[in-house]
Amino acid sequence: MITVKLPNKIQVGGHWYKLVLDSRVKDFGQRADINYEKQRISINPNQPQSQKEESFLHEALHFVEQVYCRGDVDEAEIDSLSQGIWQVLAQLGIEFDFSGLEIVEA
Ligand SMILES: [Zn+2]
Repeated sequence: MITVKLPNKIQVGGHWYKLVLDSRVKDFGQRADINYEKQRISINPNQPQSQKEESFLHEALHFVEQVYCRGDVDEAEIDSLSQGIWQVLAQLGIEFDFSGLEIVEA
């Protein structure tokens, strides 16, 4: 198993987005969320590891999409891509460690 410890910020196209753990995203029926105004990706820590990893990839893809695809990729396509990329990474034995992320609470 190869464990990738997530940094607290990721960069796409020169833009830096903070990664945080925030259980409040479930209040909106989501497992994670990307906020383009705050430049923040929030992930609900209270979900199984596999879903947490896929949620991170999903929001990271929204970030990439927003920078490079100008809104041309829809939600269902992002979801399919994040599920597929997660499957490939999991088969390669790659897992994500979320322990370095700040926990944000109300
Ligand atoms: Zn989405």
